[in-house]
Amino acid sequence: MSENNHIKVAIIGSGPAGLTAALYTGRANLNPVIFEGMQPGGQLTITTEVENYPGFEHGIQGPELMDIMRKQAARFGAVSHFKEITEVDFSSRPFKLKSYDEEYTADSIIISTGASAKLIGLESEKKYMGYGVSACATCDGFFFKNLKVIVVGGGDTAMEEANYLTRHASEVVLVHRRDGFRASKIMYERAQKNPKVSFMLNKVVKEVLGVEENNRKRMTGVLLEDTVTGEVTQLDADGLFIAIGHKPNTDLFKGKLDMDESGYLKVKNGSTYTNIDGVFASGDVADKTYRQAITAAGTGCMAAIDVERWLESQEL
Ligand code: NAP
Repeated sequence: MSENNHIKVAIIGSGPAGLTAALYTGRANLNPVIFEGMQPGGQLTITTEVENYPGFEHGIQGPELMDIMRKQAARFGAVSHFKEITEVDFSSRPFKLKSYDEEYTADSIIISTGASAKLIGLESEKKYMGYGVSACATCDGFFFKNLKVIVVGGGDTAMEEANYLTRHASEVVLVHRRDGFRASKIMYERAQKNPKVSFMLNKVVKEVLGVEENNRKRMTGVLLEDTVTGEVTQLDADGLFIAIGHKPNTDLFKGKLDMDESGYLKVKNGSTYTNIDGVFASGDVADKTYRQAITAAGTGCMAAIDVERWLESQEL
């Protein structure tokens, strides 16, 4: 391993949290290195218009916002590696990181690996992903103008997506596995009052159906199983939006950092400190409550300040 592979501040993940941490640590002359991972720019790169990021009066496209953030951090010396970290060792200092082809050591680490949409776990769901199946209504709703779509889930996201999709689709069927909802009353009522939304309860998707025409796959419907009677029925639709929650991207840190029961990294109250000195967490990976670009950026800033002070205290 060359000396160049020693990093003062290694940032794992490149959404708003990671890139804001890079901007601040860059301006503090800490020469941050960002490991951008599998989805450079994070979840915002699969959204379209972002209307709630302060400073953009008329909104901005998600990928463009992330591009600006990356360039802003690079202006202060942050270096991006378009690599995924596959192994970490926090048992001694300097910490060790591995990508597929290199090994690195780091004085400090900021984890901002975010969260990903959960999927049902069917082969046919994978097969038709992007061909009718989606996990993001704001990204793909537009493609379902005057078509019929299904939303799966019973939480706030499912209600929000069902309502949102009625802007485009002619009909939205919300399928949920039980007859009670996790969604807040107001979100549920909004969906219920929407004349384009109907509900199918006590149903799970067993299979996604589709056809292949002129070398192009297209989803045509789903098979639903009733969770009470076991009866299987077919529901024809052009789209299927999976809205069953998110999973924090923390597999890499299992057994190495403290996590809550859902796998979110635990941080010390009001800070970004994890249970290991020198390892910090920011953004959705440690936040199951707010999950906004602006809150992720805010905690990215906190992580940078925490790292800077911690490095100083260690005289590193
Ligand atoms: P969630 O609250 O965890 O709800 C997930 C839903 O998906 C539940 O109804 C769950 O069913 C169902 N589900 C989970 N796994 C499933 C599977 N394998 N097959 C079928 N159904 C499955 O997730 P969320 O709706 O994404 O919300 C996450 C957080 O963000 C919440 O705190 C929510 O309040 C917040 N949020 C807020 C807003 C807003 O205020 N505007 C919008 C979106 C999200 P069960 O209920 O049976 O477990």
